[in-house]
Amino acid sequence: MQMDGDESSNIEDRRDDSGGGGGFGGGGFPIPMGGGGGGGGVFTGGLGVIGFIVVALLFGADPGEILGGITGGGAPTQTSAPQSSGPSSSASRPAQRPAADPETQFVARVLKSTEIVWTDIFRDMGKVYREPRLVLFRDATRTECGVGQAAMGPFYCPADQRVYLDLGFFDELAARFRAPGQFPQAYVIAHEIGHHVQNLLGISGKVQEMRQTMSKRDGNALSVRTELQADCFAGVWANRADQQRGGKMIDDKDIEQAMAAASAIGDDKLQRQTQGRIVPDSFTHGSSAQRTRWFRIGLDSGDYRKCDTFRAQQL
Ligand SMILES: [Zn+2]
Repeated sequence: MQMDGDESSNIEDRRDDSGGGGGFGGGGFPIPMGGGGGGGGVFTGGLGVIGFIVVALLFGADPGEILGGITGGGAPTQTSAPQSSGPSSSASRPAQRPAADPETQFVARVLKSTEIVWTDIFRDMGKVYREPRLVLFRDATRTECGVGQAAMGPFYCPADQRVYLDLGFFDELAARFRAPGQFPQAYVIAHEIGHHVQNLLGISGKVQEMRQTMSKRDGNALSVRTELQADCFAGVWANRADQQRGGKMIDDKDIEQAMAAASAIGDDKLQRQTQGRIVPDSFTHGSSAQRTRWFRIGLDSGDYRKCDTFRAQQL
């Protein structure tokens, strides 16, 4: 992958912070290995503490618990559980500095590229794209959605319009999910930005509203459509960014690797690994085939209007 171009100034580096106040178990990536409890609730133990509200890329824990607490798409009225006696949220503290290491530089370039692409698309829609911030952290950090932990994988918090990323996840992507290379990393970032786009377009709020009155099963189905749309949006970004670089940003091998990543983090594969069986009703992100399909739709078309997963008959 050839990722050139300017770097975004919307990176917030909290990697030298004390882990969001200290005290929560960081401890690397306890990604589910053993046959833990059902329903993908592998992380609910950790999540239960604060009732974390996120739209996570991976292992969405239990969507009911993640999204159930949201009352309105990142509306200011949204409350998370009381943030014990900690100091004021570090989310409000700007901690910017120029990207020094190549990995940060890469993230900043991808972020900038998403800003350019989505600003264009929003302009075509007659709307204004509000740039989100991307927070780099280690182990744990405070967010307006509660405490973010590296173990959850990268995630987007609608309440503070930030993407949270522990760069250690990229190692995980290469080693555990066998998706090495930079394009899978860019896909992960672009997927989270896709959730930001959904937030700005009012889709997230609508979804959360609908979930309030739904059965858990229907809620999961809606969550799958939300996630697949974010995958499709990630593909739209890749298409446009590649075009802006004269088709030199990605090649077939990059695409293959990103497909492998999308496939590796499909719910069916994850469930097979963690539970040894597949429970389609509990899917919250979509199967491997669905994730690769929707990423591909966005990638091939570059057209966000093709990403209407909510109306699609077939996922
Ligand atoms: Zn997601």
